[in-house]
Amino acid sequence: MRMLNVNLGNRTYPIYIEADSFANAAKEIFRQCDAKTFIIISDENVASHYYEKLKSFLELGEAKCLMYKIAPGEESKSLTTAEQIYTWMLANRFHRDDVIIALGGGVVGDLAGFIAATYLRGIRWVQIPTTLMAQVDSSVGGKVGVNHPLAKNSIGAFYQPLLVWIDPSTLTTLPRREIYNGLAEVIKYGLILDPEFFEFLEINFYKIVSLEDSELLNQIIRTCCRLKSMVVEKDERETDYRRILNFGHTIGHALENSTDYRYFRHGEAVAWGMLAAAVMSQMKSSLSGDQFIRTQKLIKLLEKPALPINISADQIAQAIQSDKKMTTEGLKFVLLEGIGNCRVELVNRELIEFGVNYLLTINKKGRK
Ligand code: ADP
Ligand code: ZN
Repeated sequence: MRMLNVNLGNRTYPIYIEADSFANAAKEIFRQCDAKTFIIISDENVASHYYEKLKSFLELGEAKCLMYKIAPGEESKSLTTAEQIYTWMLANRFHRDDVIIALGGGVVGDLAGFIAATYLRGIRWVQIPTTLMAQVDSSVGGKVGVNHPLAKNSIGAFYQPLLVWIDPSTLTTLPRREIYNGLAEVIKYGLILDPEFFEFLEINFYKIVSLEDSELLNQIIRTCCRLKSMVVEKDERETDYRRILNFGHTIGHALENSTDYRYFRHGEAVAWGMLAAAVMSQMKSSLSGDQFIRTQKLIKLLEKPALPINISADQIAQAIQSDKKMTTEGLKFVLLEGIGNCRVELVNRELIEFGVNYLLTINKKGRK
């Protein structure tokens, strides 16, 4: 079993990574908290695969487990669902010593963490992420929250869990599209922070996608958690440095937004966004031609839907301009300085349109 710490003073917490490890997860949860009742928040898909298993191990420690099951999908990450869960928790008289366990992907993690942060002004929680996206990205750093009809992820908090337990074997039941979704963030970590990791991904891409080698998966998850922890430890509340994690996200978010969050998975939009950011970096001469080609090649291996035909560079630039604070000097944007290195720079609307136009060109080629 591997363990790493996210060092945040008195909010420091461990992340454990081990295959086929629900029994050990239960033991560790007991070792770290003496709760008699566990409130498991999950979704219908994940619960059907893993709830009974987790419950049986927790019950060996004589704890009571109760589950609240949400409908799968982003729509459940809402104040309405949160209110339903508060009502259920209050009716069941859950108290301060009880512990929430988030069993699921990012939707479950964000929502359950938000409930944990706010129920009785905060109770303890544990995260067992079951999507690649959540295992490599969203379970590190304590961002929890729900969506508001006017803006995604706009209501929330920073609230760190007691521990995160990652069992990569849970990925075997995950739909293939979700594997590619998570891999976009994995590639992001290589691109912005670690040239050797990027090279490792180039060499092992197909082996990773096949999910056959559990040690390989373990290694990838561990590397991403380590890289993200390092960033979060320097800037927990995203005042400055943590912004580099938004590489590919400015244009990615605009693509998600202009398709009503129904067309792309987050990672797919980020993959498109990273391609645009890479060509913009090359334009700024900070990324060499050779490194641009490698970047483009790896990102193109990610299966993702084509851009919808009605999208234009002007529309995406406009969406970014109205969403983000674009001053007369420009917009803060994460560019690559080479593979494994990045910087935040002010870019103008022209450069953004150049990036999106590049996407439209390769999109057209892909359609032919
Ligand atoms: P993300 O982590 O990207 O935010 P979600 O939480 O929306 O993703 O999960 C994506 C989809 O995958 C949901 O339909 C969810 O029910 C399903 N899911 C999550 N984990 C697993 C798993 N280990 N096996 C099968 N399906 C899963
Ligand atoms: Zn992301």
